[in-house]
Amino acid sequence: MEKTRLELIAKMPRIKFKFEEELKGYSFTKTGGVADVIAFPKTIIEVYEIVNYCRLENIEYTVLGNASNLIISDKGLRGITIILTDMNDVRIFDDRIVAAAGAELIHTCYQALSENLTGLEFASGIPGTVGGAVFMNAGAYNGQIADAVESVEVVLPDGELKTFNAEEAKFGYRDSIFQHIGAIILNVTFKLKKGDRREIETQMRELTDARIEKQPLEFPSCGSVFKRPEGYFAGKLIQDAGLQGYTVGGAKVSEKHAGFIVNIGGATAEDYKAVIKHVQETVLAKEGVALETEVKILGE
Ligand SMILES: Cc1cc2nc3c(=O)[nH]c(=O)nc-3n(C[C@H](O)[C@H](O)[C@H](O)COP(=O)(O)OP(=O)(O)OC[C@H]3O[C@@H](n4cnc5c(N)ncnc54)[C@H](O)[C@@H]3O)c2cc1C
Repeated sequence: MEKTRLELIAKMPRIKFKFEEELKGYSFTKTGGVADVIAFPKTIIEVYEIVNYCRLENIEYTVLGNASNLIISDKGLRGITIILTDMNDVRIFDDRIVAAAGAELIHTCYQALSENLTGLEFASGIPGTVGGAVFMNAGAYNGQIADAVESVEVVLPDGELKTFNAEEAKFGYRDSIFQHIGAIILNVTFKLKKGDRREIETQMRELTDARIEKQPLEFPSCGSVFKRPEGYFAGKLIQDAGLQGYTVGGAKVSEKHAGFIVNIGGATAEDYKAVIKHVQETVLAKEGVALETEVKILGE
């Protein structure tokens, strides 16, 4: 990026910036080359300042939460990479939770438990941020984030601040309107219900145990790589196609859960992409089903 460090620091002095930093240190797959600039806003105003600056200076930007659903290019990201994890306030008002986009979803679920609020138990093992979960309409064990969302506050690429209700968010399977309008999610209000603390806690524990038993959590990964095709399970198709253990470089189709591609050491984004392509081609040839990625692939 042409802009000098000094200019960014001078124009937005309160915002923490890092320059020429490898993104693999931030991503769950441990892939990702060098970002020109990373910004860590702590408030809505700071996000707004960055978006406005980028618009006026014609600089591209990319938003990351916990980077738990991403494969970031080995060539890194141009422009400003906005990482929202320093914006992580969670507040409870009776049966509502207002969480900043960068708050850990898991932390938010435990905050709900602390107030005997039910409705987020299904999400208590999803390692993303609240913003990333709403963007993706993350889901598990018959639950999806859409069911708990009341409203979502965003900033649009033209700098407009806007609030969407759940209907306007147009949630679909691992989809939301925010994926199609370039919105940055800033705050999310969840509407939950008072419940029985012991029941909420038991369900959260059981789901966590199920994850530990079924998922290869001992390796870096981005969770399930593929969306569930209508009428099938991606993991089962991959298993039936004999692809478990298939490896390119450091990226391997997990033997514990075929839907996961794990980094067994030194995997690059290119390794991941090669495994994904091979899995898609093989499943299509052997099982006749086209697998679509759930994971987002960012950068060149
Ligand atoms: C071990 C493991 C288990 C997982 N289990 C599940 C599961 O059960 N169910 C499930 O659905 N997912 C699961 N995931 C995937 C992932 O945790 C979710 O998709 C999560 O919601 C992503 O949140 P994030 O903050 O990490 O988003 P990121 O990975 O940082 O970003 C994902 C996308 O969202 C965008 N984004 C992030 N934050 C914002 C924001 N504030 N505003 C606008 N855009 C934003 C990014 O640009 C990117 O396109 C799992 C991942 C792992 C590693």
